[in-house]
Amino acid sequence: MTTVPPLSEDEAQRLWASSRSERDEYFFTAVAASGTVWAWDFETGLLEIDDQDNALVPLWPHPRLAEMAAEAMGFEEVGPATPVEVDVLLDGVYERFHREGHEIAVLPTNGQFTTIRSLERFRVEVFEARLRAAGLTDEVARTRRDEFYADRKRRADQRLNLDQDDRRALVAHLRERLADKECDHRFAFPATREWIESQRLSWALLSRSAVKVVCSCDCEALGHFEETIIAR
Ligand SMILES: [Zn+2]
Repeated sequence: MTTVPPLSEDEAQRLWASSRSERDEYFFTAVAASGTVWAWDFETGLLEIDDQDNALVPLWPHPRLAEMAAEAMGFEEVGPATPVEVDVLLDGVYERFHREGHEIAVLPTNGQFTTIRSLERFRVEVFEARLRAAGLTDEVARTRRDEFYADRKRRADQRLNLDQDDRRALVAHLRERLADKECDHRFAFPATREWIESQRLSWALLSRSAVKVVCSCDCEALGHFEETIIAR
């Protein structure tokens, strides 16, 4: 049984007219408190498509706001917004979104000027909002954050699903690519797309996961994949 958080019509209208950053703040604070987001139906694929052809999944912190957006965007056939537990979204549904390359539109109003978050960025913001709401000591918060980032790496690694031979080949390729230069601690995913595809691996998945989740620079990427050879 989902509890719909209280939101007066005045408050809904005020939010509607507020800035993108105010809507973002409201969204993550409300979702941290309620544990629920509202969506149009995932199954019938009511997604927006942005100008780079990425499918966006629009989400709202309250069904009234989803309804207002449907009206503003002219989706007359949209039924009542569906509540989705944010943990169900981040666990099960997210894996499908990852495969399909979706991103999240945070509290869109009329379809313009909304915040677009990558799946991983969205996950981080939900986590951080929950951490703020929990009012933990710095030390406990630090421990939680370490666990969270370790878990993200595990998830990314599961998604990549590289076997030992793939890992070894990838590490050899990265070593070769990085051998002649010092890492400048920026991330340019050091494998070539050509090589990745010749191994029948997914460039999109590997580069996206590595860049956004696993590592923050080229030498860290090499280190990560070297470690995951030994760890298994
Ligand atoms: Zn580096």
